[in-house]
Amino acid sequence: MSKQPHVLVIPYPAQGHVAPLLKLATKIAEHGIKVTFVNTEFIEAKVMASIPEKAEGWSLIKFVSISDGIERDDDRKDFDKTRNTMLRVMPGNLKDLIEKINQSSDCEQITCVIADISVRWALEVAQNLGVSRAAFIPYGPENLALSFHVTKMIEDGILDSNGNPMNDGLISISEGTLPWKRNEICWSCRGNEKMQKILFESICAVVQFVNISNWVLSNSFYELDPSSCDLVPNILPIGPLLASNNSRHLAGSLRPEDSTCLSWLDKQSIGSVIYVSLGSTATLNQQQFEELALGLESSSQPFLWVVRSDLVDGSLTGFPDGFKERITGRGKIVEWAAQEKVLAHPSVACFVSHCGWNSTLEGLSMGVPFLCWPYFVDQYQNRNYICEAWKIGLNLCPDGNGIVTRHEIQTKVTKLLSDEGIKRNALKLKETAINSLVEGGSSFENFERFIVEMKSS
Ligand code: UDP
Repeated sequence: MSKQPHVLVIPYPAQGHVAPLLKLATKIAEHGIKVTFVNTEFIEAKVMASIPEKAEGWSLIKFVSISDGIERDDDRKDFDKTRNTMLRVMPGNLKDLIEKINQSSDCEQITCVIADISVRWALEVAQNLGVSRAAFIPYGPENLALSFHVTKMIEDGILDSNGNPMNDGLISISEGTLPWKRNEICWSCRGNEKMQKILFESICAVVQFVNISNWVLSNSFYELDPSSCDLVPNILPIGPLLASNNSRHLAGSLRPEDSTCLSWLDKQSIGSVIYVSLGSTATLNQQQFEELALGLESSSQPFLWVVRSDLVDGSLTGFPDGFKERITGRGKIVEWAAQEKVLAHPSVACFVSHCGWNSTLEGLSMGVPFLCWPYFVDQYQNRNYICEAWKIGLNLCPDGNGIVTRHEIQTKVTKLLSDEGIKRNALKLKETAINSLVEGGSSFENFERFIVEMKSS
């Protein structure tokens, strides 16, 4: 008799990773499969604080936490130190957790580990314990496809061994995929060689960990980027992962959502509001922040702007003089929004976005045109897909001093809102995204296949 399945899901401890994996975990649990979701203690406290008590879906998943080894007072923004500590401590903690669950008499043994590729060591832990494993890819298939070409590009002299392009040409991996500009590859970090080295090593290591996985689950859908999907052996695109009825309250937000933005949106005209959010980590300098504020003001459209307490590098010294008074009634500022619900609201006209992969998928699944403001890693190429491949948005271009001016913002808002072609493309892509998720659709079928195979593994 085959064992009852029990899936353990482990995300990288950051907003853009916890949220999609929690949606995936809920989808699996909706199939009647037991799911244990493993956060770091630090992240679990934040996730729990954002879930209303007795929320629907709450009991579907068992939440457990392990230590990331970082002291309470340590600076978690020190990326290198945090990463090294996690790498030293977390594999052992995860192994102990799985062994404890497996020895316990009151629940089923872990039969499958789904690990974010950004915590790829978890796949190795699962392999060593003889448990089946699925690698979860939280970014677009084009970057996964790129990983499969890195070794050859080094051999062919296109990249040096640190991932620097050897000439100014475009980096292309196939005819059907968009080529990368040399400073827009996902590991490019101008002026931060150490970070670039870490990112490049991570991308190079992906193939090895994909190869030890039984499944490769991609948060995308085949029709969005068939050429990239075709370059990745055994990829199973199962996205877009969106909130279901059960995961509505299990959004995996690490900050409390301000729900007043939804009642505010109810009062705005259909298709009028500019929604502005640069995700969970992108920052602006004070000058850029003020320019964005003045650009939104001069756009003469209503706007909903997510201003995180850490949006401005250093610290926010304030909005431009008199800005808040002048925008009363027309502009709404919140620290964190219920983004999926906002994007699905009929009042929203466009999305000023940093083009993080989750935001990209959420915006396109709701049929909302983009104004793109990429900040780092994969966001530049996501922007290129939005503007050049799918044609569902426009780019906000910085001036010679690297500033996106108020004039640029005002001009592009006007241009985007009057572009019927972009609106049509956005609605069409929304339809394709939704169709992939319903019975007979590509992501639906891939997900069912995963469930069937995983249950019998
Ligand atoms: N998000 C949200 N409320 C906000 C801003 C962002 O819930 O006010 C969510 C958004 O829906 C997305 C995630 O935060 O799921 C951000 O992930 P993304 O990959 O877009 O960017 P990152 O934060 O990783 O840069």
